[in-house]
Amino acid sequence: MNVHDSERISGVLEEAGYVRSSEEGTADLVVFNTCAVRENADNRLYGNLGRLRSAKQENPGMQIAVGGCLAQKDRGEIVRRAPWVDAVFGTHNLGSLPTLLERARHNEEAEVEILESLDKFPSTLPARRESAYSGWVSVSVGCNNTCTFCIVPALRGKEKDRRPGDVLAEVGALASEGVLEVTLLGQNVNAYGVEFGDRYAFGKLLRSCGDIEGLERVRFTSPHPRDFTDDVISAMAETPNVCPQLHMPLQSGSDRMLKAMRRSYRAERYLGIVDKVRAAMPHAAITTDIIVGFPGETEEDFEATLDVVRKARFASAFTFQYSKRPGTPAAEMEGQLPKEVVQQRYDRLIELQNEISLEANSELVGSEVELLVAEGAGRKNAHTARWSGRARDGRLVHFTPSGEVEDRIRPGDVVRTRVSQAAPHHLLADDGVSEHRRTKAGDHWEVGQRPKTSGVGLGLPTFGAPSAGPAESAEQGCGC
Ligand code: SF4
Repeated sequence: MNVHDSERISGVLEEAGYVRSSEEGTADLVVFNTCAVRENADNRLYGNLGRLRSAKQENPGMQIAVGGCLAQKDRGEIVRRAPWVDAVFGTHNLGSLPTLLERARHNEEAEVEILESLDKFPSTLPARRESAYSGWVSVSVGCNNTCTFCIVPALRGKEKDRRPGDVLAEVGALASEGVLEVTLLGQNVNAYGVEFGDRYAFGKLLRSCGDIEGLERVRFTSPHPRDFTDDVISAMAETPNVCPQLHMPLQSGSDRMLKAMRRSYRAERYLGIVDKVRAAMPHAAITTDIIVGFPGETEEDFEATLDVVRKARFASAFTFQYSKRPGTPAAEMEGQLPKEVVQQRYDRLIELQNEISLEANSELVGSEVELLVAEGAGRKNAHTARWSGRARDGRLVHFTPSGEVEDRIRPGDVVRTRVSQAAPHHLLADDGVSEHRRTKAGDHWEVGQRPKTSGVGLGLPTFGAPSAGPAESAEQGCGC
């Protein structure tokens, strides 16, 4: 969500006449889009701001702006701690940034503007997309849940849904620019439709994405097990361009902990969804998020998590050691665990998950995979002469680009290859490429062209007026 917000911030600034600086250290404006979910976000921000102070002294015309979740949380505190910051804006008013910078320049003092609720749906703002082949599209912002460890509802507000027609218009606009893969974004995509009274809206949206020409891969994040309905599973299974991949946060396998986290599903329900997804899509890669060491977690609770991990057989898991987030109920709870206990449980969880991931990946050795070639997805590629791409199920595959390669392979192209080796976090495919398809996305990547959605016609949901159809809005949707 934050990465996509950054695309919006760039789009807004470019529309206001700013040009991206190509060299480090020469920028006249530096914008930090901050996240408050991970620990130490504030230390890192103030560390970075401290480093920029001397740059600003050398270039007095330079401006520094801070936005995003941490800005929403710390507000005026940011300019108190770093008075050389020129503008602070929150999660609800990304679009105000050029005006704040202008005012700060004119008044020669810092401008702080934080709104309590959404001013404009961020999707109404222009976006400067980072990828030629893959795009984010928000279906909603905010969240109506109250998970006790989470700061998101306090900083992003209540859930606001976009109209399906607007979402589809943006997806269509991206596809018409050659984008092959779209990830639908929401804090709780399964609640999509709550605002306009259609609890099956998300499944319908997935099916409608199936009709968009040129769109080859649809993903989404994140679903909430409480709101997961069977129609979403059938929409996934029956819509060919929806990828066989599900990232569904578990957080804990202990019902007692789930209750303390105020996550209103239980392990049995979670595993029931996993079973249904596997029955409908046997090859789906299911991934998850897990928190270790939530306040009050006993060895027995932790064992319950390991038990669900064994049963669910996740393809991979993002594992987090619980740490306090000021402003959340869990930060005040009794039973905060010592670091050593959390670390030890965390290591055990990682060991188990790595074992499962490796077993699942090993089953794929010998199978053929279709990859969307990705830019910068393999750290060792320069050394190994491999390229990297994502399979349809989201797995990362590093491949050797020899064989039936039609001219040069570019990020955004599609290749087919055979898996030759497995590791817990990736697959290798060293037997060459059996098919290489050059794509419009690859052409765009090659000339440095990125889609630019203008945001025209994409607004807050309203009742009564018919929403714009995808084709119609798609024409206006892209300013590329
Ligand atoms: S559902 Fe997700 S975003 Fe919403 S409160 Fe829970 S963890 Fe936070």
